[in-house]
Amino acid sequence: TRSDIHYFGAGPALLPTDVLEDAAKALLNYSDTGLGIAEHSHRSEIASTIINEAKADLASYLDIPDNYEILFMQGGGSAEFSAMAYNFVGAWVARKHKELGPDDSSMQELKLAVKNFKIDYIITGGWSKKAAAEAERLFGSEHVNIVADSRELNDGKFGTIPEERTWNLSEDAAMVYYCDNETVDGVEFPQFPKSLEPKHDGPIVVADMSSNILSRKIPMQNFSAIFFGAQKNLGSTGVTVVIIKKSLLPQPSVALMKQLALPIPPRILEFETIAKSNSLYNTLSIFDVYIAGRVLKKLLQQYPDKVQGQQAVSELKAQLIYTALEARPDVYKIIPDKTVRSRMNICFRIEGGDAAEETFLKQGVTLGLTGLRGHRDVRGIRASNYNSVSLESAKKLASFIGTFASQRG
Ligand code: PMP
Repeated sequence: TRSDIHYFGAGPALLPTDVLEDAAKALLNYSDTGLGIAEHSHRSEIASTIINEAKADLASYLDIPDNYEILFMQGGGSAEFSAMAYNFVGAWVARKHKELGPDDSSMQELKLAVKNFKIDYIITGGWSKKAAAEAERLFGSEHVNIVADSRELNDGKFGTIPEERTWNLSEDAAMVYYCDNETVDGVEFPQFPKSLEPKHDGPIVVADMSSNILSRKIPMQNFSAIFFGAQKNLGSTGVTVVIIKKSLLPQPSVALMKQLALPIPPRILEFETIAKSNSLYNTLSIFDVYIAGRVLKKLLQQYPDKVQGQQAVSELKAQLIYTALEARPDVYKIIPDKTVRSRMNICFRIEGGDAAEETFLKQGVTLGLTGLRGHRDVRGIRASNYNSVSLESAKKLASFIGTFASQRG
């Protein structure tokens, strides 16, 4: 049964059982309306109340200031790879156009600037690599500047974050993009990078927080935008959250972008459009927003000091597992460097390779420890330690890591 399982899957991830029980009821008959939540119109008052409450609770939990907008989008984190590039190139053009003014000679200057615009990417794992590749596809590799690529220091493998003094940041990038927690490679930024701290009106910093959102405090004012799919720490698969500084929403006119031969975002990926319609430009899955909202209500009840309370638990769980691994360096090799280890995705190999790992996985399943197989690109074992993984499950895994090692002598 559900209570026998300790699930460490990388996403979709575990959801709190009471939230699912409540959602199951809401799916049949929402609030005694006789209709389920997935059947009510997304334009109904019921739907807008659900959206607005989820926004308010998210803002409260993460302490998001009023000059940011919260958007519920679709297409997963992957759609945001494109959306961020489109919208921030647009925002960059809007800013330059305003600075230079509308007359003809300024247009020449703007065209020249556009020839050389850059989007900066810090590559620390598979997901930031994919995001950079998408920007190259949309805008051409001449516009994509790789600030740093951790594979260069590590035999072509991920597992570190290059020191900031080696970063090659562009002067006036449309955005600097990084992935705060690399789900596949188990690499997490230990804190906000010093060299991206705000100075007058830049830099424009965007981060993918798909796999570590709601697990630690975020210095929101340092970011122009962050995004995350709901399916790991927030809710069910189907909604993606974008939190963006309101001042960066306006896009230049279509005519101006045409004149500059730059692409414009498809409407459904245009943040300004989604913001104007309170995330209801098209049919949004209100059921998924509802689940996210229930998770947030539960977290707000559980942790009086909000995300900081969750942060302490996340750190404790991760520490239990890493300590068990470190106790037996003869059996376990933690993949990423100690300074950048993820609290969310704990990636390691077992002495003896694939065969030993298969035995570990099999024995784990007999104890109810599931979802531990590493990503196919990295192999080995990956324990995803998201919010709904209980302290008890983390303890059980840590203890199994110890007993498995002792069986081997
Ligand atoms: N970014 C990160 C860090 C992820 O972990 C994932 C998916 N696991 C994605 C982006 C892509 O998300 P999606 O599958 O929702 O498109």
